[in-house]
Amino acid sequence: MSEPRAAGLRFQDPKTARRMADALARAVGEIGRAPVSVMHVCGSHEQAIAKYGLRAAFPLGLNVIMGPGCPVCVTDLPEVDEAVALAGQGVRIFTYGDMLRVPGTVKSLADVQAEGAKIDVVYSIGQAAQLARKSAEECVFFASGFETTAVATAAVLLANPPANFSVLSAHKYIPPVMEIVAEMPDTRVEGFLAAGHAATITGWGIFERFVERHRIPVVVAGFEPLDIMAGLLTLVELIRDGRAEVINAYPRCVTREGNLRAQQVLWKVFKPTGGRWRGIAHVPNGNLRLRDEFAAFDARRRFTIDLTKLWDYAPPSLAQSCVCGDIMGGIASPTDCPLFGRECVPDNPVGACMVSTEGTCRIWHQYGGHLNLGEER
Ligand code: SF4
Repeated sequence: MSEPRAAGLRFQDPKTARRMADALARAVGEIGRAPVSVMHVCGSHEQAIAKYGLRAAFPLGLNVIMGPGCPVCVTDLPEVDEAVALAGQGVRIFTYGDMLRVPGTVKSLADVQAEGAKIDVVYSIGQAAQLARKSAEECVFFASGFETTAVATAAVLLANPPANFSVLSAHKYIPPVMEIVAEMPDTRVEGFLAAGHAATITGWGIFERFVERHRIPVVVAGFEPLDIMAGLLTLVELIRDGRAEVINAYPRCVTREGNLRAQQVLWKVFKPTGGRWRGIAHVPNGNLRLRDEFAAFDARRRFTIDLTKLWDYAPPSLAQSCVCGDIMGGIASPTDCPLFGRECVPDNPVGACMVSTEGTCRIWHQYGGHLNLGEER
């Protein structure tokens, strides 16, 4: 018997969503104070919340904050500068499209591309390695993304890449930045909604020590509307009941241990090191850098990258007004930025959060730019 046509939409069922929204409102009401603030750390969660209009279904007393979950947005200025400098030195750079317009200290990759630098947009590191194999030039893949994407980078480096190929890693590792957010003195975050795709790799067990240390609950959630509603409902119930626990609300994909093979590949190639996340802070163990065994494929060790010219420069005043860091830290919203939708728009981004399709400012701008659609009811 074939599946009913609507079976694929069972995670988007409006009646179930309404029931969950009512239960969410009751649970927030039972806490007896407002707002209750929770954070998700994932651009895909924010996209789904905006795309399906879920904020209109959230109770007014629930504040759902997008944290540092956009890998492009947290790529730090000096990391962009390194790619820009390498391009200026004549190296061919492969990168994802989102990274092109991310501002560096002085220039973006799009700026140097317009000046004649060799920069190619690719869809995957596999494609970049293939193109490098056909080339006689030095080729560098500017690698951004969280642990999910870093696994793909690691797999390519383990599969005998061409000798003229190397990686400039701006990969980030999510769990340590949750520690930073939890420890921020003015944090409002009472619970975390963790990203289901990253947890598919790491497993939900990775959050147990975090919960023990900070006494803040974590719920792993998927990306369909009902996944998010169910995840939020579980999280608010944990807050209401004073239970600091990890709950896996995405069991169809996530296990306690995660994908052990992917973890093995990831940690064989990368080691976690401390480094800055744009607008956030220095995050201990928050950056993924190549291990010594892969030094031959590490662009930072293969080339001398001269950043002095780029850093001897005062950034334009507009960029100094960007509050991306406060937004990703959960203490401001895009509409708190005086440039939002005026000087800063997707076609002319001032800050990194307006560049990527996973950036909070970009998503809010795309879907109407309201602080909370529920306020209009
Ligand atoms: Fe930065 Fe633009 Fe967002 Fe303002 S609207 S915080 S300038 S990215």
